[in-house]
Amino acid sequence: MVGPVRRSGTPHWFANAPDGSLGSLLMSHVLAAVAWPYANGPRHIGHVSGFGVPSDVFARYMRMAGHDVLMVSGTDEHGTPIQVQADADGVTPRELADRYNKVIVEDLHGLGLSYDLFTRTTTRNHYAVVQELFEGMYRNGYIVPKTTMGAISPSTGRTLPDRYIEGTCPICGYDSARGDQCDNCGNQLDPIDLINPKSRINGETPKFVETEHFFLDLPALAEVLRQWLDTREGWRPNVLRFSRNLLDDLQPRAITRDLEWGVPIPLDDWRDRPDKRIYVWFDAVIGYLSASIEWARRSGDPDAWRKYWSADGAGKDAQSYYFMGKDNIVFHSVIWPALLSGYSGEGSRDGEPGELGRLNLPTEVVSSEYLTMEGRKFSSSRKVVIYVRDFLERYDADALRYFIAAAGPESNDTDFTWAEFLRRNNDELVAGWGNLVNRCVSMAAKNFGAIPPVDPAGLTEADQALLAVARTGFTTVGDLIGRHRQKQAIGEAMKVVAEANRYLSEQAPWKLKDEADKPRMGTILHVALQVISDANTLLTPFLPHSAQQVHELLGGTGVHAPMPVIEQVDDLDGGPAYPVLTGDYTVGARWESVSIEAGRPLAAPKPVFRKLDPSIVDEELARLAD
Ligand SMILES: [Zn+2]
Repeated sequence: MVGPVRRSGTPHWFANAPDGSLGSLLMSHVLAAVAWPYANGPRHIGHVSGFGVPSDVFARYMRMAGHDVLMVSGTDEHGTPIQVQADADGVTPRELADRYNKVIVEDLHGLGLSYDLFTRTTTRNHYAVVQELFEGMYRNGYIVPKTTMGAISPSTGRTLPDRYIEGTCPICGYDSARGDQCDNCGNQLDPIDLINPKSRINGETPKFVETEHFFLDLPALAEVLRQWLDTREGWRPNVLRFSRNLLDDLQPRAITRDLEWGVPIPLDDWRDRPDKRIYVWFDAVIGYLSASIEWARRSGDPDAWRKYWSADGAGKDAQSYYFMGKDNIVFHSVIWPALLSGYSGEGSRDGEPGELGRLNLPTEVVSSEYLTMEGRKFSSSRKVVIYVRDFLERYDADALRYFIAAAGPESNDTDFTWAEFLRRNNDELVAGWGNLVNRCVSMAAKNFGAIPPVDPAGLTEADQALLAVARTGFTTVGDLIGRHRQKQAIGEAMKVVAEANRYLSEQAPWKLKDEADKPRMGTILHVALQVISDANTLLTPFLPHSAQQVHELLGGTGVHAPMPVIEQVDDLDGGPAYPVLTGDYTVGARWESVSIEAGRPLAAPKPVFRKLDPSIVDEELARLAD
């Protein structure tokens, strides 16, 4: 856990820092590594609730607290499902990936996710980094060749992946078992054992042939992984337990496939073969590193990535947090650390680090649970779905961000219902927070034309108590976000809002109409506006769009919450151009209370959030059903 950085002066949260140690207040290099969305279609709100919003809340808070954050990700574009879908659509896999890369970039931009670089796995830079890791691990003996029996389609000659083969389960007799698993009895299967196997793509009977592939020697890395997991602190207990259990039964795992679409195998006699590629899960996890290297190359300092990655040099004290849904834990808590350890020469076969040097293993794997929709699993084919794009056409990004933070699947599977979305938007965002802002700004503008001064008579106990609640929020909320307890964190921030509303009801400044009472009215509004300013800062990581608006309503200028931009860039190594998400996040509010200035003009009040009509619930449910 890293606390906020001490800046000039002595901010209140410094005095309140829980452990008080200077060490926790030093600036850290922090990598926010966000799961790579698969580019075979648009993403729905279940996807972005697992990886997108939580990682952005964390990255925004850490930057505000003074840390040096690098947040990277991109679209995951290789693998059989993209090849299969491209074939069905009559386009090339690259064309299909181009289409959905663009859609996903626009969606994440719409949500205001502050990536330093959101790229893709089809860049030449990514290919080169994947091949470097493959070669390093191969040299160290952690990647080994092996002959296996693989299914091919007799008509195309292409490999048929396990999940595209269907047949009768040899164990329970279920007639629609998949090559990798029987959904009826739950047993793991091998496609060669299926009775009457058929291709799910075209119905033909697959042929099983001997084929040579490369395997990742996971058993040779089990011990170093166990030692690493034993030193992990603060992980969600279910993630740690699940990861430890995986180590008990590690088998060598194939990392190449018979496929034309993917990264070529960088060994002599292999690199020019059109029919053998590195498998998608192996190349996609390496994206965290390749995207960091791409970001550094674009920044003008090609070595800047080392601050987040080098285990020996510039990055030896860096921290790295990986964000994903729970179906991806194995890739981040076992496979990726295994690749990093093998490349660094740290498994039971020893070895030497490759030319990138020894690399950091994850500090923490932050996994979310599942979001369901109206009690059902998200399913594009059954239309139990709402895509990010459709959502953002009808509602504001912060309304969704609020729902995900306050009611998302942080540590339990949770259900998205339109009724609950409506309730949280109207009762909590609009009536709780938005009205507080509007009432106070309007009353101050009407009666004073600016932020009113504090009466020389001074502050009452009630005034001081409310200001203290807001200031304490910086410690409480920041600490909770730093420990990935975002649901509690936004709850604490909204408690400040609730306290401010209670204070206003009790103080009733609207009753102080006599000229003699005006100084007291001014003091109450000054206190309320100060607490609004503080609460707005506490809510900024969660609600960046509305935080900028509230900042401006309070008469603030400049960037309060920086936003990502989409840029069309050239491939650094001569490949086709593509859009990336990037931004300048060095500007914006810091994680501290900033005193509001009496006399500063207030902007004309306008609602920050949109109240939704209850009829949207039936409209949305009707969309689901048709
Ligand atoms: Zn079965």
